Amino acid sequence: MNNPAKKVSEALSETLTKLRGFIKNTLADDKPELTDIYDELQNVLYLVTAEYAANQEALNTVNNLREKLVELQNWKETKSKYSLIKLTMGVLVYAPNKTHESPEPLHWICANCFSDQKKSILQLQKHETPDNRSREWPYYLDCPRCKTSLKIDTKDFQALRTQ
Ligand SMILES: [Zn+2]
Repeated sequence: MNNPAKKVSEALSETLTKLRGFIKNTLADDKPELTDIYDELQNVLYLVTAEYAANQEALNTVNNLREKLVELQNWKETKSKYSLIKLTMGVLVYAPNKTHESPEPLHWICANCFSDQKKSILQLQKHETPDNRSREWPYYLDCPRCKTSLKIDTKDFQALRTQ
């Protein structure tokens, strides 16, 4: 990341290293005050570095909050397009609002996942018994996300198949 504060901190650190070498090799014995100045500069560098780190952390927090806000806004928009309905077997699912024009085919959303703010489309699945002799209507709506399996009857099955 191109960050001016970090560049300044690195440049200062480099200059201080050179200065330390210079003081040690040539001037320290004659001019002890130069060592004090060096120490002061070192402290300034620590402050700049700490400030930079704090800014970076604040920036990360702001970015995380911004992402969450976008997620929330997206969910709010998605949520407004669906309503809870009861299928003929008493099963509750979210269905697209009748007023909402959509090019998508009829689909139902898992109510369990919907409460987690996730749009998970229920998939029509035929659950066959091992012997295949069960008299029960074998079609279910399965949620690929939370693995909920909802039994439906012929009317709901037809609705999904024809629209
Ligand atoms: Zn689900």
